[in-house]
Amino acid sequence: MSAPSSKRLICEAILLAIVIAPCTGGDVFSVQREQMVRLIEDRGVRSPDTLRVMRATLRHLFLPPDLQSRAYEDRPLPIGYDANISQPYIVALMTELLEPAKPHRVLEIGTGSGYQAAVLAQLAGRIYTIEIVPALARSARQTLRLLGYSNVAVRQGDGYRGWPEEAPFDRVILTASPPEIPQTLIDQLARGGRLVAPVGRLGSQELVLIEEKADGTLHRRSVVPVAFVPMKPELR
Ligand code: SAH
Repeated sequence: MSAPSSKRLICEAILLAIVIAPCTGGDVFSVQREQMVRLIEDRGVRSPDTLRVMRATLRHLFLPPDLQSRAYEDRPLPIGYDANISQPYIVALMTELLEPAKPHRVLEIGTGSGYQAAVLAQLAGRIYTIEIVPALARSARQTLRLLGYSNVAVRQGDGYRGWPEEAPFDRVILTASPPEIPQTLIDQLARGGRLVAPVGRLGSQELVLIEEKADGTLHRRSVVPVAFVPMKPELR
């Protein structure tokens, strides 16, 4: 069988764009975004809700203009202030592990660009997200507002304290890695809740899932090795 001609490949790409564009919002990145979602699915994320939301969230709009063309590569990208927008596969995996649902109140530590918060905002009731770097908190708040994610509250502050006024939370997600999960955050998790966090120092971090049963007992399981930016130490 002969290799397909380049003309045929271009025609196929255009056809794919025409077929997929109306389903994905039709922006210039819709084909790349669809490819990203297929890769995430190939890597084992199966939750239809998670895949739907990864398809619907415009990751390029959470990045500075010079990085937007790389938004749908499956890798973390720098957003300044030693922070990264997380790798799409890891965002999807953490979202799936969290099992968010419409009535849930979710606490996120490490707002960064706001992308993970935007993904969760489409699956849960309300997202409370804390970012320690003031400039990142400000820009994420603005991006989320411009894109219409009205159920996300961004607070600039130290994630080690959690958000006691709004606790308990049905779901807690950390997107910066502490050496061990802060007890304050476990205390702010509701009975029956789930917490997902990268834990440990760079080079030996793992993604941990904690489930708090109805009787208050905690079940902990390690899922995969990961490499998140370290959580900045508690301010005293
Ligand atoms: N969820 C983000 C990825 C964030 S990277 C996204 O989707 O883009 C981790 C973020 O955690 C960084 O922005 C970093 O500034 C923030 N961070 C680090 N230590 C923190 C702390 N103690 N409290 C709150 N945020 C913290």
